[in-house]
Amino acid sequence: MVVRDAPVVSHVEHSEHARRPRRVQVVETLDVTPRIRRVRLAGDLHDLPVAGPTDHAKLFFPPAPGEEPPEPHFSARGLVAPPAGAPRPYREYTLRRLDPAAGTVDVDLVRHGGGLAGTWAEDPRGALWLYGPRSSAVVAPRDWYLLGGDETALPALARWIDQLPTVPVHVVVEVADAAEEAYLGDLPEHVTVDRRHRDGAAPGTTTLLDDAVAAFVAPAGEGFAWMGAEAGALRPVRRRLRALLPTAAVDLDGYWRRGVAGTGLG
Ligand SMILES: Cc1cc2nc3c(=O)[nH]c(=O)nc-3n(C[C@H](O)[C@H](O)[C@H](O)COP(=O)(O)OP(=O)(O)OC[C@H]3O[C@@H](n4cnc5c(N)ncnc54)[C@H](O)[C@@H]3O)c2cc1C
Repeated sequence: MVVRDAPVVSHVEHSEHARRPRRVQVVETLDVTPRIRRVRLAGDLHDLPVAGPTDHAKLFFPPAPGEEPPEPHFSARGLVAPPAGAPRPYREYTLRRLDPAAGTVDVDLVRHGGGLAGTWAEDPRGALWLYGPRSSAVVAPRDWYLLGGDETALPALARWIDQLPTVPVHVVVEVADAAEEAYLGDLPEHVTVDRRHRDGAAPGTTTLLDDAVAAFVAPAGEGFAWMGAEAGALRPVRRRLRALLPTAAVDLDGYWRRGVAGTGLG
C-alpha cells in the first residue's frame, strides 16, 4: 500500500539514484532519547547516495533480532514484493547521517513497542539488508520554511535544519514528552520550534500538529512546508496548509498509519 497521498510537488526536484541491495551490520547503538535508538550500520556504503533531507531506504529486518534477514529479490520490474497476504519484511527509514569514509550510516528508530522494526529496535544486532535511497529531493530556495512531524520525522527534520539556508525556519513537533525534545538539540537562531507533548495520549491520536500549524504566523514571501507523521494526523494539516500555500509548496508524507503494519511510501 502506498501511503503517500500528497501531490508531487512541482518545485521539488528528485534526482534518481541507481540502487543495489547492501548487506549491513550493526556496529554501534546509542539511545538519543528514551524513545529513539540510533543504530550505526556498517557495510559497503562508500557510494551510498545520501543527499537530500528526506533520503530514506528500505531496511530488511530479520524475523527475530540476530537471525538472518531476508535478502531482497528482483525481477525485471524491480523489487519482488512478498506474495499477497504475506507481511513485508522491510520498512522505510531515514538515513540520518552517512560517513562514506568509514562506510557507516546512522538510522534512528522510534521504539514504539511493537512491529517488525520496533521489536528489532529493542535488541538491535546482526545483519540487515539496505535498499535505497531511490531519489533525493532538493527544494528550490524559498523565503521561509514550515517543517513538522512526530518522532518518526525527527531524523528528517534534523537533516532539513542542517541543510536549509539561514531564512526563517519554523518547526512544529509532536513528541511523547519533554525527554524527547533533546533530539533536535541546540538550534541556530533562524530556527524556531513549537514543541507539543502528547502527555500520555497514544501517538497518532491527537490534533497537536494541526494545533501547532494553526498557531503559526507565516512570514512574508514565498514559503514551503514539509511534514512527516502518522497519516491520519496529517489530514487536517493538509487542509489547513492548502489555505496558506500553493499545493506545489506543500509536501506531507504519511510515515506510518495507526493500527496498520508495514505502511509508508510503498
Ligand atoms: C520515508 C519514510 C521515512 C521514515 N523514517 C523513519 C525514521 O527515520 N525513524 C522511524 O522511527 N520511523 C521512520 N519512518 C516510519 C516507519 O517506517 C514506520 O513507523 C514503520 O511502520 C515502523 O515499522 P514497524 O515494523 O516498527 O511497525 P509496523 O509493523 O509497521 O506496525 C505495527 C504497529 O505499530 C504501529 N506503529 C508503527 N510505527 C509507529 C510509531 N512510530 N509509533 C507508534 N505506533 C507505530 C502501527 O500503526 C501498527 O499498529 C519512516 C517512514 C517513511 C515512509
